[in-house]
Amino acid sequence: MALGTRSKLFARARRLIPGGVNSPVRAWRAVGADDPFFVARAEGAYLEDVEGRRYVDWVMSWGALVFGHADPETVEAITDAARDGTSFGAPTEREVELAEEIVDAFPSVELVRLVSSGTEAAMSAIRVARGFTARDRILKFEGGYHGHSDALLASAGSGLATLGIPASAGVTTGAASDTIVTPYNDVDAAAAAVERYGEGLAAIIVEPVAGNIGVVPPAEGFLEALRGLCDASGALLIFDEVITGFRVARGGAQERFGVKPDLTILGKIVGGGLPLAAFGGRADAMERLAPGGNVYQAGTLSGNPLATAAGLSVLRRLRDPAVYDELEVRAAKLERGLRPFGKVQRVGAMLTLFRPGYDELFRGLVARGVYVAPSQYEAMFVSLAHGDEEIDKTVEAVRDALADDRG
Ligand SMILES: *Cc1c(COP(=O)(O)O)cnc(C)c1O
Repeated sequence: MALGTRSKLFARARRLIPGGVNSPVRAWRAVGADDPFFVARAEGAYLEDVEGRRYVDWVMSWGALVFGHADPETVEAITDAARDGTSFGAPTEREVELAEEIVDAFPSVELVRLVSSGTEAAMSAIRVARGFTARDRILKFEGGYHGHSDALLASAGSGLATLGIPASAGVTTGAASDTIVTPYNDVDAAAAAVERYGEGLAAIIVEPVAGNIGVVPPAEGFLEALRGLCDASGALLIFDEVITGFRVARGGAQERFGVKPDLTILGKIVGGGLPLAAFGGRADAMERLAPGGNVYQAGTLSGNPLATAAGLSVLRRLRDPAVYDELEVRAAKLERGLRPFGKVQRVGAMLTLFRPGYDELFRGLVARGVYVAPSQYEAMFVSLAHGDEEIDKTVEAVRDALADDRG
């Protein structure tokens, strides 16, 4: 398609869709760009936009694609499934098989329910925790993203433990006031909050590796301390492993760091690039869900047959430990390449290059055919489709973009 297609498309989009996009970060406003590209197709490590430009993609649908775009095995699993029907709203064998894969990978998960998005999974896990404990309050951490449900959008200024202030218009004070926010990796602040609100605390929810403030590994002892605070107060520990699950290890951050949560939230990789997420954990808590229990949760497209086919195709291949060895090697190579240009923080196949002037770097990289997240506070996601060629091209592009910027 002709040049200019993209800005015309964005103008059309803006007349029909708020901000022109169906999820805010896609508008590229955080990096001061005028308009985003529109993707026409993708394959392996590459995206192609509607103007025919190709980009090495480090966003990978925000970490969902561990075998790269249009992975042939996943595509075949989806097309085979589609021939047998795209939605039933009734139980299928593949849902059971996917639950078996999840339970096998995550020993802390005894029962699991499939949903369609990470937002839905996190919201439902909170409801289970509240129903199970008969308590209202939850503790989350500053900058922790758990989807956009009302209770979990609360954030707060730096420093002190404080009652949540709605971060978004449209969230009622009531919904936010049961959410307590303390700084990530600050054990003392979390302990003080538990001390103050402990008897009313239903859950502590945490990204065991922070991924939505750029990659921030858990401080030594932080996750263990949260486990201890939950044991002492009777609150449930919820790990939001939407990014880390099946990424930093097959069994997620809980395997990598050896801390066992009560409930786990999964998304992104678990759906193989289709809309599927999951929440699960201790049987005594998960049994509270309807139809057996009185915590209600449901979904027309939950356990969708195309999504379970995609998820199964991916998760079965992740049983091979060589996958994680290979991801580690490639991510470490990318880290080494980027280290001269800023502070790199990495856990397994997720990393962030922190540096001043990220916005200019983003634009310089896009101009050179490399797509990174349109925000400093996101991650680069390494997949098995990223080889030496893509890593070298990326490091070179960073060097050139920064040289250009200075010159
Ligand atoms: C992406 C993400 C979510 C939300 O998942 P959606 O499928 O976008 O609703 C929740 N938690 C974390 C840690 C995430 O990165």
